[in-house]
Amino acid sequence: MSSNADIYHEMIVDYSRHPSNFGKIENPTIQYHDSNPLCGDSIDIFMNVENDSVSDIKFHGRGCAICMACTSVLTEIVKGKSIEDARKIQKNDVLGELGLENLQAVRIKCALLSLKVLKYGLYSYLASKDANADALKQEASSLY
Ligand SMILES: [Zn+2]
Repeated sequence: MSSNADIYHEMIVDYSRHPSNFGKIENPTIQYHDSNPLCGDSIDIFMNVENDSVSDIKFHGRGCAICMACTSVLTEIVKGKSIEDARKIQKNDVLGELGLENLQAVRIKCALLSLKVLKYGLYSYLASKDANADALKQEASSLY
């Protein structure tokens, strides 16, 4: 019988080999890039917005297994969500999917890079039209 830890480990390996929503979107509504130099993770997130919802999301780049798995999970969570719901996504929404809630501090950047990119990306989109957008920027910069 395999433990939860084994199952989560298998999910992470699987996502790193076959990431979800991997690729690029031409002329996306939102594009944002960031990297985690300590590990070498570097990702771009592309989103199309239609009727205040994320109609499509893809990511491109390279990263360790944890980064690729968390970015895959994040894109699955975000796809189809309204901007309002997407901006409310918290770190444990992503970490919990892969059993990573108690990840060591050195790896947390790998796990949360994509959430940071998402929040900064949404901020860059909302900054001009939403008076509350600054809260999003604040959240993104305090993730890790
Ligand atoms: Zn990493």
